[in-house]
Amino acid sequence: MRWNSPITELKGIGPKSAEAYHRLRIETVGDLLSWFPKKYDTFEAERPIADAREGRLVTLLGTFSGNPRVITTGKGMTILTCTFRDVSGTIAAKWFNAPFLRKQISQAKYVLLRGKISRDRGGLCILQPEIYTPERYREMMKTLRPVYGLTAGLTKTSVAKAVADALRQCEIPDPMPVSMRKELRLWSLKDAYEEVHFPKSEETTKEAIRRLAFDEFFRFLVGIRSVKEQTEVIPNRHPAFMTEYANRIVRSLSYALTGAQERCFQEIAEDLRGESPMQRLLQGDVGSGKTVIAEMALATIAEAGYQGCLMVPTEVLAKQHFAELCRRFEPLGISVGLLTGSMTAAEKRTVREAAEKGEIRVLVGTHALFQQSVGLPELGLVVVDEQHRFGVEQRRKLTDKGVTPHVLLMSATPIPRTLAMMLYADLDISLLDEMPGERLRIKTAVVDGGYRPKAWKFLEEHVRAGEQCYVICPLIEESDGLEANNVSDYAEQLKEALPDLRIGLLHGRMSASSKNEVMEAYAAHDYDILVSTTVIEVGIDVANATVILIEDAERFGLATLHQLRGRVGRGNKQSYCILVQGSDSDEARERLTVLQTAADGFAIAEKDLQMRGPGDFFGIRQSGDNVFRIADPIRDAEVLTLAKRTVDSLTKEQYAKAVKLCLADNDTNVVY
Ligand code: ADP
Ligand code: MG
Repeated sequence: MRWNSPITELKGIGPKSAEAYHRLRIETVGDLLSWFPKKYDTFEAERPIADAREGRLVTLLGTFSGNPRVITTGKGMTILTCTFRDVSGTIAAKWFNAPFLRKQISQAKYVLLRGKISRDRGGLCILQPEIYTPERYREMMKTLRPVYGLTAGLTKTSVAKAVADALRQCEIPDPMPVSMRKELRLWSLKDAYEEVHFPKSEETTKEAIRRLAFDEFFRFLVGIRSVKEQTEVIPNRHPAFMTEYANRIVRSLSYALTGAQERCFQEIAEDLRGESPMQRLLQGDVGSGKTVIAEMALATIAEAGYQGCLMVPTEVLAKQHFAELCRRFEPLGISVGLLTGSMTAAEKRTVREAAEKGEIRVLVGTHALFQQSVGLPELGLVVVDEQHRFGVEQRRKLTDKGVTPHVLLMSATPIPRTLAMMLYADLDISLLDEMPGERLRIKTAVVDGGYRPKAWKFLEEHVRAGEQCYVICPLIEESDGLEANNVSDYAEQLKEALPDLRIGLLHGRMSASSKNEVMEAYAAHDYDILVSTTVIEVGIDVANATVILIEDAERFGLATLHQLRGRVGRGNKQSYCILVQGSDSDEARERLTVLQTAADGFAIAEKDLQMRGPGDFFGIRQSGDNVFRIADPIRDAEVLTLAKRTVDSLTKEQYAKAVKLCLADNDTNVVY
């Protein structure tokens, strides 16, 4: 079995599970092996009974007191109950349909119970807890259990089995010569894949990640270097100064540009006037106003007689940008086109033809732009928004067509400048380090579930004042066994609690077009509250939204929370972010509290890293918005340096070989 073999070659994967994997874009055995756990679960230390809070998963240490009781309900279900006690208090432990536990409980001495705290008529109880001896539990605390971002139709067990089969049967050739591996102290690829999926310890898992991160950085750096090496000259067919269009855009704005925006645009304009292709990264925190700079750059290239295109990660964003560009570019006589995955073949064809004929001067689109060839014969500028979602390969595919255009990457990923310079090699970097004008700082609070009714009231008050709100839930189904709030259920509950508010629902399993409809309706204020998964995360801009409530906030990385929080506070009204903590952990609270005081993405990213404990040294993966699947430039700075040095020291032949392999369409590993 090979890396590129279809996943259906694995035993036990029929059409049905293949369909489920397909939804996760896992088609080949290699895709499956590169589908890394999003985090590792660990067994947490025990806590006193007195600290138990409803809805949380806890571990208690104590003894059973009194005799276990078994009752049988009318429906024939048995409920086994026993009181559990520690020095701080007592709590009822309950098991359904498990009368056989009675004997074990009667004989148990000092044990640990791990389960979810619930409330019933008698007060708090711990439901269906697992029972461990202290020795066993100490052992368990050393282990890591991989958690995958599952979807309907896949279970923890079925995935573990498929991955184990794949590891056993698939050849994983290691492209790295053994001598090099030894020198760099890196694991073999096969060992690394085995370890990330079936971790033995925290230390060994870190080693595995180190190897896999190295490969990712290596590919990325080779890609960047290859883009950089395209140095054909752009025939200059524009007058030396093109400022007319950009100036007209600035004049049409209802606000003045910040100093940083002006400086960044000047840097870009300078490049656009030059003769060699721009390779620039525009980095600026969420809400720093990157969009308008992109618009000015696109207008400038249009003024110079070239075509431009704008790539964005999601369809919703593409539409939003398209609408805004149409508005701004119409008075300038620049025709704008939109190309997205969900358009019909005929619609796409019309747009493509118009682009090829040069009738469309600026084209906005999603990945679809890359996937099928789009002819933009006079392409002069490619702007990639939230570039961290795009692979270098895809970018290159586009630049391969015709003249090398200028490339402007825009990113809100807060990585320190030194690391950015390493990753993006000699890309020029423009830093938007000033937030627009009268922004009020978003007031942020960390609360627990008990505060929810008050929080909902708070949302209601703001809706009554004509504002809009977001509610973010982590998962749309309980498929990975964690207690996640189900988005749909949540929306129903909210509707019941606030019956006269208009509540919209958005999640990743909806079709692109229904997502668009909901987003558009929300933007048009046809909804007051949008209950959503993190699909709204990137770039959405609704200035009237002032409150965002995030459930189970500790399950997100701080950087993601910061991005999410950036969905509000985009206008000049005071905005709020309510972080509802779903788990009973002081570390989680401490981590979340960082957001109460820190408003700056860089500071937050660094804090995030410092505070990562065992189990989430994966950093609670940012939901898919990274270039990297496993590597993390901040955490893996050492490996990044190593990879950079390696790529820089490749001989011409080695490098040519690496480029060929890195840029091949399939996701196989690189040969060094
Ligand atoms: P991001 O950098 O996250 O992409 P956007 O470009 O979406 O940020 O800008 C966020 C919001 O700030 C938008 O509503 C935009 O119209 C507004 N904005 C941008 N620049 C300024 C400015 N100089 N003054 C006031 N508001 C601005
Ligand atoms: Mg943006």
